[in-house]
Amino acid sequence: MDAIETTCVYCGCGCGLYLHVENSKVIAVTPSLKPPARGRLCAKGWLLHGFVNHPDRLREPLIRRGDRYVQTSWSEALSYIAESFSEIKRDSGPDALAVLTSAKATNEENYLLMKLCRAAFGTNNIDNVARLCHAPTLFALGSSLGSGSMTNPMESLLHSDAIMIIGSNTTEQHPAVAFHIMEARRNGARIIVIDPRRTQIAEIADLHLQLRPGTDIALLNAILNVLVQEGMIDEEFIRSRTEGFDAARDRIAEYTPEVAERICGVPADLIHDAAVLYGGADNAAIVYAMGITQHTHGTDNVQAIVNLALATGNLGRDGSGIYPLRGHQNVQGACDMGALPDYYTGYQRVSEFRGKFEDAWDVKLPTSQGNTAVEIMGSAGSDIRGMYISGENPLLSYPNSSRIRRALESLDLLVVSDIFPTETTRMADVVLPIASFAEKDGTVTSTERKVQLIRKAIDPPGSALPEWVVAAKLLEAFGLSSGYRSSADVMREIASLTPSYGGITHERLEGGGIHWPCPTPDHPGTPVLYRDGFPRGHASFRHVDQCEHQHHKFTLIIGRSQYQFHTGSMTRRVCILEREVPEAFVDINPEDAAALGIRNGTGVILESESGTIRARARLSDNVKRGTLFIPFHFRESPANMLTGWQLDPHSRIPGLKITSVSIRRE
Ligand code: SF4
Repeated sequence: MDAIETTCVYCGCGCGLYLHVENSKVIAVTPSLKPPARGRLCAKGWLLHGFVNHPDRLREPLIRRGDRYVQTSWSEALSYIAESFSEIKRDSGPDALAVLTSAKATNEENYLLMKLCRAAFGTNNIDNVARLCHAPTLFALGSSLGSGSMTNPMESLLHSDAIMIIGSNTTEQHPAVAFHIMEARRNGARIIVIDPRRTQIAEIADLHLQLRPGTDIALLNAILNVLVQEGMIDEEFIRSRTEGFDAARDRIAEYTPEVAERICGVPADLIHDAAVLYGGADNAAIVYAMGITQHTHGTDNVQAIVNLALATGNLGRDGSGIYPLRGHQNVQGACDMGALPDYYTGYQRVSEFRGKFEDAWDVKLPTSQGNTAVEIMGSAGSDIRGMYISGENPLLSYPNSSRIRRALESLDLLVVSDIFPTETTRMADVVLPIASFAEKDGTVTSTERKVQLIRKAIDPPGSALPEWVVAAKLLEAFGLSSGYRSSADVMREIASLTPSYGGITHERLEGGGIHWPCPTPDHPGTPVLYRDGFPRGHASFRHVDQCEHQHHKFTLIIGRSQYQFHTGSMTRRVCILEREVPEAFVDINPEDAAALGIRNGTGVILESESGTIRARARLSDNVKRGTLFIPFHFRESPANMLTGWQLDPHSRIPGLKITSVSIRRE
C-alpha cells in the first residue's frame, strides 16, 4: 500500500496527512507528524478519503442542449467556451465577462485563472470566496499593519499567556488551532471567549463574554478604554512603532464598560476583567473568524482588534499576534494569487503594477476597475453576460439565494467547474469535471501563510483534469501561448512575478511548508511577521464606532457544523459525517421556544425580508433569548435565502453572519 503525503482540502489549518492507496483507490488517511497536525486530525480529516471515490463524481465535460446535458469532449467544450466568451466580448466589451475562482483550488490554478481573466478575457472582474469571509481582514490588517494575513503561525500560540478568541467556534471549525489553544491552556495560558453562543471553547474559557450579536465594536472599544485607564498600554511600542494613537484614545473615552454593557449585554465588571487579563499578559494573542468579519461593519470590527494589539504591543513576538482563521484550505492562496479585482499576485496593485505584468505576459492588460464577487452577481444579466465559476456553489453560499438564482439564470453563458454536481453546476451551460486534491499536484497556502504541497495519489475519474490544465488550454484557445508542462512550471512563473513567493519552488517544498514572505531561494520563510518593524515604518490606529444596534425580536446567526463543510458538496457524500448532522437545525433558547409552543424537533419556519425556509428546532441554552443559530450547509434549509444584500463599505463583504428573522411553528 502506497502512502502519499499531502495537505487536507477542508479548512484553512492546512493539516498534513498521508493518503493510503490500494488498487488505485484512496482507502485510508493518517496524520502527518509535522506541524500543524502533529499526529492529530479532526473527524473531517480522518474521513477525507470518503468523497474522493464517490460515484457522483463528474467524469466528462457536459454542454446544455435545451433542458438536458450532453456529454462532450474537452476540445469541443473548450472551443465552445472560447467562442462564446469571445462573442460576448465582441458584442458587449470585456467587462461583460467575469471569473470567480475557488479557495479549494491550488495556487497554480488560481494564478492561471487570474491570468485567463485579465490577459485573455481582458477584464479585472475577478474575485474569490474570500470576499465572503476575510475581505475585511485583507483591508483592515493590510492598511493598518502592512499585510492582510495572520501575523504568527499556530505554533506561536503555545507561547501565549492569554488568548482572546472572538467570533470563532474554534474547536468545531478550526480544530488544529483549537488543539494548540488547549495545549497552551494546559501550559497555563488564560482563555477569553467573546461570542454570542456558548460554544465548546467558551465552556473551557476562563471568561466568556456572551455579547449581543453585532455589538463587537462597543465591547472591544470598552476593553481598550479599560487598558488606557488602567495604564496597561505599551507606551514605548505606541510611540516608536505606531501612529494615530492620540486621536483614537480621545475617542475611546466614551466607551466605558457601563456604556458597552448597555449595548452588548455583557456586565461591565466582566469587560473590565477581560481587559485586565489580556492587557496583563506578557504575550497575548487574538484569534478571530467569521463572527467578526461577515458583517456590514466587518472591516471596522477587525480594526478594533488591531487597535487592541497595537495598544498593548502584542505584535512581532512569539505568543503575541493576530490570528484570522480562514475557512477554506486555500482562501489565503487565492488572494495571494491575485484572484481579486484590484490586485495581481502578492497584493501588487493593478494601478501600480500593470506594466510589469504586461511585459511578463506580453499582452495589454485591462485598466478598468474590476468588480467584487457580490457586485458581479448584482450586475449579472445586465452588465455581466458571461461568467466562469471555479469550484464554488454560490447558490447556497452567497447572500440572498433567490437573487443569485435570478442572476445566474440571466447570463448568456455560465461555465462551472467542480468535482461534483451542485446546485450551481445544475444551472450551468457548460460543466467541467475537475480533478480533486487527491488527483493532482500543486501548492496551497494555509491560514498561517504556509505554502505546502498537495501531491497526486491517484488518477482522476473519467477524463476529469486539474484546473490548471483547463486554464492553460483556455489561454491557448484565446491565442496566448502557455507552454506549462507541470504545475511546478506555473509556480516558477508565480515566483518570478511575486516578491513574497520569490523563493518558493515545488522542489523546496518537498522538505516541508514555507511561510511567506520568502523572497529568495535561500530565504527560510517568515513564520512571525513584524519582528523587525512594520513595512511602512509605523502601524496605524484608526478609531471605529459601534454602528447603531437595532434590537430585533430574533437575530439569526448563520454558521457551520463541525461535521459538514461549506455547502456540503463533499462532506454530505461522506456517510459517517452525514449521519452525525444530516439536516439543518435551529438553536433556540428554551424560554423562547416555550413562549412560541416549539419543542425539541418541532418543524419551524424562519422568515426574513429576503425569504422563507423550513428547518427543525433544537432547544439549547447555548444561545440567549432573542438569538437563534442555524448552519448553512443544507440545500433543504438554505439559510442564505434569508440573508440580505448590504455590503461593508470598505471591503464589500455582505452581512452574512446575522439576519433579523421571525420564527413560528410549521
Ligand atoms: Fe483538515 Fe482542518 Fe480538520 Fe486539519 S483541522 S484535518 S485542515 S479540516
